[in-house]
Amino acid sequence: MRKDIHPDYHDVTVACACGSTFKTRSTYKSEVLHLEICSSCHPFFTGKQKLVDSAGRVERFQKKYAAFRKGRAEASAAGKSSGAGS
Ligand SMILES: [Zn+2]
Repeated sequence: MRKDIHPDYHDVTVACACGSTFKTRSTYKSEVLHLEICSSCHPFFTGKQKLVDSAGRVERFQKKYAAFRKGRAEASAAGKSSGAGS
């Protein structure tokens, strides 16, 4: 190999937010690579549903549409009582 043209390829410990760690080799700048999700906790591999919500977006969505759903429920209840539902 030519000198001074190759990035530093070294051992890296990958640490996921779920607690799982594994070792690999990489040119990553640090010795430890932190992840939010890995193959031990990703829903694709676990088969379980999990919301990856790091910025509170799911909560914001549910808050935003809570009023909308409530409105729909009231509308459908009103529709049933008048006999012109759905
Ligand atoms: Zn993980």
